[in-house]
Amino acid sequence: MDNIVIFGAPGSGKGTYSAALVEKFGYNHISTGDVLRAEIKAGSELGKIAEGFIEKGQLIPDDLIIDMLAEVYDTMRQGPGVIFDGFPRTIVQAKALKEMLAERGEKISVTLNLIVSEDVLMERLLKRAQIEGRADDNEETIKKRFNVYYTQTHPLIEWFRKEGVLSEFTFKGDKDRMIEEIIDKVASL
Ligand code: ATP
Ligand code: MG
Repeated sequence: MDNIVIFGAPGSGKGTYSAALVEKFGYNHISTGDVLRAEIKAGSELGKIAEGFIEKGQLIPDDLIIDMLAEVYDTMRQGPGVIFDGFPRTIVQAKALKEMLAERGEKISVTLNLIVSEDVLMERLLKRAQIEGRADDNEETIKKRFNVYYTQTHPLIEWFRKEGVLSEFTFKGDKDRMIEEIIDKVASL
């Protein structure tokens, strides 16, 4: 089974490229952000806790997200593979993912790191704010999320590199081109 991590700053297109991979390869897709937003909507215990962190642009505590992820993963283990979108976001989460997969005889197949300039990211997120109305897509919270990304999440790139699973893709203005490059990489696994 393929275990694909899709990685990048807020607005880097993780959801978009995940959808392309789902369509092409029939993977199951775990977006931790989408799961949390659904929990908030449903008014669950986890949702109630998550809401405050998300509104402030902060990360949900590692233990909560790790437990949730393992539960969702176990419902998706039939089929060609799983895409992890928005997880891991901290070194603790990355180590937990590695261990969770190892316990099941699995490993990270590849991490697709999406590299996009910060002005493009901001422009996309502000545009998305008008369409989707997400509580955390306003300029102030976006800046906080960038800050959280650079301090807590970006350091993971070196961890993936050391694990030998890092593959990088730089957005040069052409989404379809980027999709082709990503599909070629995944097809070669
Ligand atoms: P995009 O989806 O455009 O790439 P994003 O990565 O900022 O943007 P989501 O992945 O949807 O957005 O996450 C939204 C929020 O959900 C985060 O800011 C954080 O509060 C919470 N969250 C999602 N995944 C995690 C995680 N793995 N660990 C902790 N918090 C998380
Ligand atoms: Mg997303």
